[in-house]
Amino acid sequence: MNIILIGPPGAGKGTQTDNIIKNFNMYKVSTGDLLREEIKKKTDLGEEIKSIIDEGLLVPDNIVKDLIVKILSNKKFHNQLIFDGYPRNLNQAKNLSLLFKKYNQTLTYVLSLRADLEIIIKRILGRQICANCGKIFNHFFKPATNMNHSCDKKFLRKRSDDNEKTIVNRFDTYKKETLPILDYYRKQNLLHEINGMGKINEIYEEIRGIISPLEA
Ligand code: AMP
Repeated sequence: MNIILIGPPGAGKGTQTDNIIKNFNMYKVSTGDLLREEIKKKTDLGEEIKSIIDEGLLVPDNIVKDLIVKILSNKKFHNQLIFDGYPRNLNQAKNLSLLFKKYNQTLTYVLSLRADLEIIIKRILGRQICANCGKIFNHFFKPATNMNHSCDKKFLRKRSDDNEKTIVNRFDTYKKETLPILDYYRKQNLLHEINGMGKINEIYEEIRGIISPLEA
């Protein structure tokens, strides 16, 4: 099975993707992570991507498509992908459908996490990511402790786009560009809408209930 997770910034897509891959034999594709890798390389393309991300806008479709094709064409990940942050507009969604067909893969579930701006701001302002292991924590809701994290605290970082001004732009971008995708998948009977404002484990249980009939 392949799964898509859709939701505004801070809805918990990354956290729930990590929960799913811990329990299911699947691989995560986060276009945000792939774009941040490109930024780290300090190339001209990386600089261009950084300025777009810091504005809270979407990176051009062709740049993101190239990243996705590399993964979909890799046999190692065949039908075992969970997409966190892709597609983010209707063009990307339609393109992904064509790519699934081309690489003979099936989209099984589209999970949409719903969360409102107030809760999103709190979550994003508290978000910390470990530069060493990639785990996501939250200063307020899920702090890194000796029990859940083995790396040194010095590796905990904030994302450059996790500030109040950019969050509002990212939320607007989500409403304008990404929300129309929901109808596209609803019409294909693939969409499951989930309240993303509860506790992390409660949201995960709901997701597990939806996807576990196909558990590996
Ligand atoms: P994320 O890590 O998913 O929150 O993504 C961070 C930022 O990367 C977004 O605000 C966009 O600027 C950019 N980005 C991530 N995924 C995509 C995508 N599928 N299409 C365009 N831009 C993207």
